[in-house]
Amino acid sequence: MKKHKPTRKYIFVLGGVMSGVGKGVTASSIGKILQFAGYRVSAVKIDPYVNVDAGTMNPTEHGETFVLEDGYETDQDMGNYERFLNTSLTRESYMTTGSIYQKVISKERSLGYKGKTVSVVPHVPLAVIDQIKRSAKKEDADVTIVEIGGTVGEYENILFLEAARMMKRQHLHDVAFVLVSYLPIPNTLGEMKTKPTQLAVRTMQESGIFPDIIVGRSPDPIDLRRKQKIAQSSMLYESDVISAPNLESIYDIPGHFLQENLDVKLLKKLHLKKRTNTVAQTDKRRWNTFVKKTKNPKQYITIAIIGKYFGTGDFILSDAYVSVIEALKFSGAEAGIKVNIDWLQAQDFEGTAGKSKLKELKKYGGVIVPGGFGTSGIDGKLAVIEYARTNKIPFLGICLGMQMASVEFARNVLGLKNAHSTEMCVDTEHPIIDILPEQKEKLRKGDYGGSMRLGSYTAQLKKGSLARKIYKSDSISERHRHRYELNTIGNEYRDLFEKNGLLITGTSPDGVLPEIIELDQKLHPFFVAVQFHPELQARPLNPHPLFTAFVKSASK
Ligand code: GLN
Repeated sequence: MKKHKPTRKYIFVLGGVMSGVGKGVTASSIGKILQFAGYRVSAVKIDPYVNVDAGTMNPTEHGETFVLEDGYETDQDMGNYERFLNTSLTRESYMTTGSIYQKVISKERSLGYKGKTVSVVPHVPLAVIDQIKRSAKKEDADVTIVEIGGTVGEYENILFLEAARMMKRQHLHDVAFVLVSYLPIPNTLGEMKTKPTQLAVRTMQESGIFPDIIVGRSPDPIDLRRKQKIAQSSMLYESDVISAPNLESIYDIPGHFLQENLDVKLLKKLHLKKRTNTVAQTDKRRWNTFVKKTKNPKQYITIAIIGKYFGTGDFILSDAYVSVIEALKFSGAEAGIKVNIDWLQAQDFEGTAGKSKLKELKKYGGVIVPGGFGTSGIDGKLAVIEYARTNKIPFLGICLGMQMASVEFARNVLGLKNAHSTEMCVDTEHPIIDILPEQKEKLRKGDYGGSMRLGSYTAQLKKGSLARKIYKSDSISERHRHRYELNTIGNEYRDLFEKNGLLITGTSPDGVLPEIIELDQKLHPFFVAVQFHPELQARPLNPHPLFTAFVKSASK
């Protein structure tokens, strides 16, 4: 086979006016249409905060932590990249102010700068450029999309903008800039305003960066007049201003960008031509089929997700669980089912009022108890799990969800009254869930960052189990993020569980760590819980078998 000769081009995606307008999905969609155009595409996400990774932030503050195969804890946008581009990225594809400074400082400590004065500029931006290039090389990417978090004009991302500028100077024909801006339509005016975007362009220019394309996000399409106004303020043709109105689904965006000819425009800026190859054609065909399937469901179901990270003032935010939501969408599309989700607060199922609320669970096709940390909402989760188990409601437990399913079973079936996880009750009489031995030492030393059992591990599935039927394989690889684990070493819990119908059907290859538990199918049609996070590997074009099986069971 001929060796792939990469072109190594870079597209920086920057934000204007305000955050939260879909810069990540815009960047992912740009990547997708360049894949359709026959190129190998990869992505880099830059987050300007000082945290070294996204693992130490509270989910209500930051949303989901997306764990990569190699165990790096990153921003949820990395999930979008993996899902759109149908690829698995590595730690080279993610950086923060904290991680970059850490690299610069450790290079300095090891005399990597050979006695020179190390300055914020150029050494920090140079370290950024190094990593971007390393990532492109590692992924063997023709085009690397680099998304810089935040908006232009913030103190926070100034060094990253400087890196982008320096990179353009190094490779004039190989770097393009896309500004994703917002065009508000104030209620009182009813008219779309371009001024904030014009100012964003000006701010961007102050950093020495000139946009090649402006993607205008707005509730409605942008008309020609407004495109002209924006073009004038930015030295672009109005055809370089792309209208990006709200669409029904984020997966409609690549198709919309193709209609706007954004692929051709961007390729031209990068001095590239559209290619045709069968991989790209098949990818595009499969993508279109997926999008079509999401729009024509044959059946509708509603799933309850019992979460605890919704609170931001008066607003319900499902950000902490994005990958679970998307995983359900993909499996639904595959099965011809539209999956609606009701977000239920675990805390609402606690106490006497909570008890009477349990009946409401009857109306759901299935119940998911997702991952989480700490004591809040635990009693509510346990009550919901007991209800799903005894009323034969399809149940999927993820990470903390599996741990609590085990605790519930131990308490209510095995009669181990005070069974608990040592995460919630250190001196519980029955530590059904206990801290992993290697984790104990880390916590004692206060080593919290990037120190959980993280990333991909293989698991062996038991013959004849539901898990094995679902995965159609005896060996799987899934991503993890936990410190605690079903405690089956040196005690009789494993035997007790299995004798009473809660089967351990997936374990680490040495048989030591339980990875999947399921209720005997004679007792329950679908009660499966996993120690890992299957949602992190669900893709539009590769729906996750576990979610597909759950959705199908919930539709019955
Ligand atoms: N808090 C649990 C642990 O650390 C579960 C983690 C999770 O749900 N991701 O093991």
